[in-house]
Amino acid sequence: MIRRVTGLWRRSLQARVVTSTVLLVAIVVGLVGWALLQQIADGLTSSRTASAVAEARSGFEKAQAELDVAVETQPQAQAATLTQLVDAVTETDSGSRSYELVLEGPLRSGSGAPPVRASGRLAPGSLPPDLRSQVIERPGVFWRYSELSLIGSGSRPAVVVGSRLRAPGTGDTYALFYLFPLTEQQQTLSLVRNALLVGGLAMVVMVGGVAFIVSRQVLTPVRLARRIAERYAAGSLEQRMHVSGEDDIARLSTSFNQMAASLQSQIRRLEDLSRLQQRFVSDVSHELRTPLTTVQMASELLFDARDRFDPQSARSAELLKRELDRFEELLTQLLDLSRFDAGAARLDLADVDLARVARAAAADPLLERAGIIGRTVGADRPAVVQADIRRIDRVVRNLLANAVKYSGSDVVEIEVAQDGFAVSIAVRDFGVGLRGDENLRVFDRFWRADPARTQGGTGLGLAIAREDAVLHGGTLQAWGRPGEGSEFVLTLPRVVDPARRSTAPAPVVQRVFA
Ligand code: ADP
Repeated sequence: MIRRVTGLWRRSLQARVVTSTVLLVAIVVGLVGWALLQQIADGLTSSRTASAVAEARSGFEKAQAELDVAVETQPQAQAATLTQLVDAVTETDSGSRSYELVLEGPLRSGSGAPPVRASGRLAPGSLPPDLRSQVIERPGVFWRYSELSLIGSGSRPAVVVGSRLRAPGTGDTYALFYLFPLTEQQQTLSLVRNALLVGGLAMVVMVGGVAFIVSRQVLTPVRLARRIAERYAAGSLEQRMHVSGEDDIARLSTSFNQMAASLQSQIRRLEDLSRLQQRFVSDVSHELRTPLTTVQMASELLFDARDRFDPQSARSAELLKRELDRFEELLTQLLDLSRFDAGAARLDLADVDLARVARAAAADPLLERAGIIGRTVGADRPAVVQADIRRIDRVVRNLLANAVKYSGSDVVEIEVAQDGFAVSIAVRDFGVGLRGDENLRVFDRFWRADPARTQGGTGLGLAIAREDAVLHGGTLQAWGRPGEGSEFVLTLPRVVDPARRSTAPAPVVQRVFA
């Protein structure tokens, strides 16, 4: 699931555009909403606080005035007046009252907690302790935001206003607190919050939708361009983009088409040139063949009659024959290569047992003539592939001849290994080996490690062998170590499938000189 999401994120530009737009808008809307909410909350509470403080102040003045009047008439009735004060407010119109009351006192220092009278619904401990001590210590009106808990209905934010009252008769002081719940403000605020939330969500969804539509509008032609470019890259050079209007996309399409046309003409030119070269090579090889055959026949006659010549002429006749043979081989190989280059090489497929090929190679008189022992590994059970036996024989013979010619090894090992999909046949020698990047360069046309000691080779044998392997959908690879030996591994798929020629099988044989 996570891989699918990250895959979509990496592949789809549209997904990235829409997601990042939605995220950014959500952050902006969240921040703006939060700031708005803060401002509204501040406005609501500060106006309520002002009115609450004013209301409480007039309450304090009225209570103080009543106390002052009570002391003139009957000093003992002061406490009763205070109780009445609380009772009057708490009970008579408790229905429409917008605040709770707490009266503490008389306050005497050092005589424990003073008696407290509070509105019936108020839970104990609703007064903020710092406000309480402030009111007790100093005269004046003080206020705080606090939590107000009412019995049976939980707690809510409130403004608490407190002040000291003095009973002139006894000299006692009392603390009177007004607690104004901010329920209404809270309700308004939650209404506003809900509205902002719904509005914000709608906005995020809307902007996400807009981003989706706009990015689609831009990306559809881009996707089309990608598809056409892919087809172009796959070889259909006729592909062109449809141009409509004059906007940026139309200009992109025009530029793309110009580029495609220019590339197409360049490729055509190069193809023509390469065809011309191939033709030239093949024509020259053909043309040289007829005179070569005549010259070869003449040289054959001279060679056969060499016993009657003086030693110098006899040597020349031998040289002439050898070089003409080499020349003929070169012409044959050039023709073969030009056939590969022109894509004209064809396979004559049949079931071929590579184990038999290996056994035959190990018993090749070529080895015996050179006094080399041929050894097989893994060639005792059949390893059948679909292949052109003529070409495979040619490849293996070439590898064998190279081992004889170049390695100086007195043993040549031919190993066959197989799995369900492919068979490898490795020709291994234990001679001079390969240095540096020679294992790659041996397949280059006309490349020879030591051109001075030509050993009669043309430098085309391995290049042709590799073309033969590739034609089968297989590979021919080389590995070697200087002074220890080298191995050439031909790997062929069990079944030749022209559609899968680009995905050649990996060698299945264990490498010795890797
Ligand atoms: P050639 O016709 O000269 O044999 P190849 O393409 O078969 O051409 O080989 C190219 C070069 O690769 C050879 O000239 C030789 O230097 C080198 N080479 C090929 N096989 C071996 C081997 N078994 N050990 C060392 N070098 C090799």
